Amino acid sequence: MKISLMKKLSIAILIAILGSIALTSFISNYTVSQKFKEYLIDEHKSKENDAIKIIEDLYAKQNNFTNTNKDEIQRYAELQKLYIEVRDLNDTTLYSSGNDYLKQNNHMGNMMMGSMMKNFSGMNLGEYTENKYPLSINNKNVGTIIIGYFGTSYLSSGSVTFMSTLNHSFLLSAVIALVFGLLISIVISKGISKPIINITKTANIMRAGNLEVRSIVNTNTKEIDELSNSINYLAETLNDQEMLRKRMTSDIAHELRTPLTTLKTHIEAFIDGIWEPTPERFESFYEEIERLTKLVDNLRNLAKLEQTNLNLNKSEVNISNELEKIIDSFKPLYIKENYELNEIIEPEITTILDKDKFKQIVTNLLSNSYRYLKENGRVTVTLKKENQNIIIKVIDTGIGIPEKDLPYIFERFYRSDLSRNKNTGGSGIGLTITKAFVEAHGGKISAHSKENEGTTFTICFPA
Ligand code: ADP
Repeated sequence: MKISLMKKLSIAILIAILGSIALTSFISNYTVSQKFKEYLIDEHKSKENDAIKIIEDLYAKQNNFTNTNKDEIQRYAELQKLYIEVRDLNDTTLYSSGNDYLKQNNHMGNMMMGSMMKNFSGMNLGEYTENKYPLSINNKNVGTIIIGYFGTSYLSSGSVTFMSTLNHSFLLSAVIALVFGLLISIVISKGISKPIINITKTANIMRAGNLEVRSIVNTNTKEIDELSNSINYLAETLNDQEMLRKRMTSDIAHELRTPLTTLKTHIEAFIDGIWEPTPERFESFYEEIERLTKLVDNLRNLAKLEQTNLNLNKSEVNISNELEKIIDSFKPLYIKENYELNEIIEPEITTILDKDKFKQIVTNLLSNSYRYLKENGRVTVTLKKENQNIIIKVIDTGIGIPEKDLPYIFERFYRSDLSRNKNTGGSGIGLTITKAFVEAHGGKISAHSKENEGTTFTICFPA
């Protein structure tokens, strides 16, 4: 069975409150009772001691007990609700306070005590008890004092009221704490569950296919705020991916359609006898087929690249020299088009990497720059070491990349409309492969660009 977060939190808070009230009242009740009992026993002991002292004083004055004025003992016995009897050595009763008043009072006392005081164990509450004490004068035993009492005589009505008030206040504070706890638990659990419910609603809308919704929650709980941000980030990423997926399908269709249409119309013309099949025409067929093959090869390579961890064949490479060599190999191409290709290369920079992959990385970037240059264009390649990083930049003065396309150029088959219009023959996966190679070396690649001004690609390898 699933319970809602709000119910769960409220129940947990209430249980915690009830538990702590029960525990506190039990502990305080127990300790107070214990102390109270000790206090009452001491009180009773001192009552008995006082009675003994009075009797001994009276006895000592007359040296016997027969003609003594026993009013004082009688008053004391009645006041303290004690039964007092004095016997001589022959066990003959010399004085007895009589116990009628004890019986009368006892009934009331028992009622007042109620069940609450039953835990005063060891005090014989409600039962009649007698204690015997020697009557000694000048250290000589002359008789026995018997002091009797009902257990209730321990308790004055004040003490009973005290204990009952204590228990009532525990009960009252329990009720107040419970009401407060209930209110607080509702406020806290609402504060937590409401934004979570909102986020869940947003996630459900996304699940239904609407990736434009965003979760807006008003919360000061850090984790919930983070959850909301993550959901929004997820929606944004999914939205982008969805857009890229759609674009990619139409891009691939476009890439395939162009050569296929050319081939189809040409062959139709042959069949209809409109066109003579000349070697030049077969040559253009071959080029189209070549383009298709390249596209399929690229697709296969990309699939391989994504499936497996790249196997790098690493060795120590002098990348200053390596970069010079690659740039030199591009120079004839550039010169032919009247382009400029410059280099600013820090000498003797060496690092450990896969030489072939490094070559492909630079080649891809230089081919792109060449492809997207404008008339009298210029490309500059720089290499330097900076804070334990090797930084390579390829800076061109080409057509640039529109701002809206810049975040996606490393995605598979993504091509800016500018490059599409230029009909360069690219297929939009060169940069995807380049990025995969750079990252396999633990490096990073980024692009900055301004439309119609040029583009800079920066690669950063850890040295
Ligand atoms: P392509 O085969 O189309 O060149 P890439 O993956 O190499 O594919 O590049 C993706 C897209 O990035 C290109 O289609 C182009 O729009 C843009 N691009 C890459 N390099 C440059 C550059 N140097 N100048 C302008 N645009 C570039």
